[in-house]
Amino acid sequence: MTSAGAKFESLHKEMLLRYRNGVLFMNEITVDAFAKVNLALEVMGLREDGYHEVLMLMQQLVLKDRVTVRRLGGSERCVKIVCEKEGVPLDETNLAWRAAMLMLDMAESLESVEVEIEKNIPMAAGLAGGSSDAAATIKAMNEVFELNLDEESLCNLAGGLGADVPFCVLGGTAVASGIGTDLVSTVGFAPQEYYVLLCKPPVGVSTREVYKAFDAKVEEIRKQPRPDVPYLVGGIVLGSPVRLLKGRMVNDLEYITSTEVPDINDIKAVMLEEGAAHAMMTGSGPTVFGIFEEKEGAVAAFKRLSQKYEETYITTFR
Ligand code: ATP
Repeated sequence: MTSAGAKFESLHKEMLLRYRNGVLFMNEITVDAFAKVNLALEVMGLREDGYHEVLMLMQQLVLKDRVTVRRLGGSERCVKIVCEKEGVPLDETNLAWRAAMLMLDMAESLESVEVEIEKNIPMAAGLAGGSSDAAATIKAMNEVFELNLDEESLCNLAGGLGADVPFCVLGGTAVASGIGTDLVSTVGFAPQEYYVLLCKPPVGVSTREVYKAFDAKVEEIRKQPRPDVPYLVGGIVLGSPVRLLKGRMVNDLEYITSTEVPDINDIKAVMLEEGAAHAMMTGSGPTVFGIFEEKEGAVAAFKRLSQKYEETYITTFR
């Protein structure tokens, strides 16, 4: 290629990079960071290194944060987190901060970056908000620094930040095994057929504590209804609706968290009274999600629950 040709190509690439979704950016990119729920979560056992083996069916929701990464230039590497929402850490404890640093390492760059988070996903909720912000940061950094890393490489990097981060990079619907980082994409429920109502009681739960309590009660939990990820995957592929599969849509951790947070059972009861095809807890909780076939039922449950619980949202599968 002639030098004029190469210059044109690089200019064209830069223009493409700067012109996204009809908005002109200067060295910055905004990436959606979607929430997730677990349609099933089975704790398989405890590994010698203290991690739990799990088998989960993960599903992204349309509810999302938005993460904007800006290159600030300079030669004193620094990551600045900007977020208006109270309670979001602005220091190195923010997973997006760690993601940005990791990608600066990959880029062998000494530049500074700003990561602005528009926070909509409830926090400490079992909805992978922090993990999703980190995944969006990884993707944005890959673009603004033109690293051209493929999805598999990004997922591998993401695994170093947290068990849910690779899924947030991959997105959609996936079976997660191992410690949650071994992923296979699969078919999900048709998004247009369901409304998903999220309701988070006003408490945060510690995932670590929930797993600790799980280990102490493992025999008891094995006697409860069991999640069945392979059955669910087969059922969804064959087009079975939620109401026929709900018996296998179980979260092993719900038994633990709902003992500590009785609101979980109250919220489920309201959702089922208003016609939800199914209602269950996501992750280690405490958020409950109800799956409705009819909008009226979702709206009726929203009206009742939002009077008591500030963090109540209607969304859909993605
Ligand atoms: P998961 O489902 O992956 O367990 P979660 O929804 O339960 O995640 P997060 O919203 O990720 O939990 O937040 C858990 C804690 O992590 C928060 O209390 C907060 O201190 C910290 N945190 C770190 N980074 C973020 C972030 N980008 N957004 C929100 N919280 C964050």
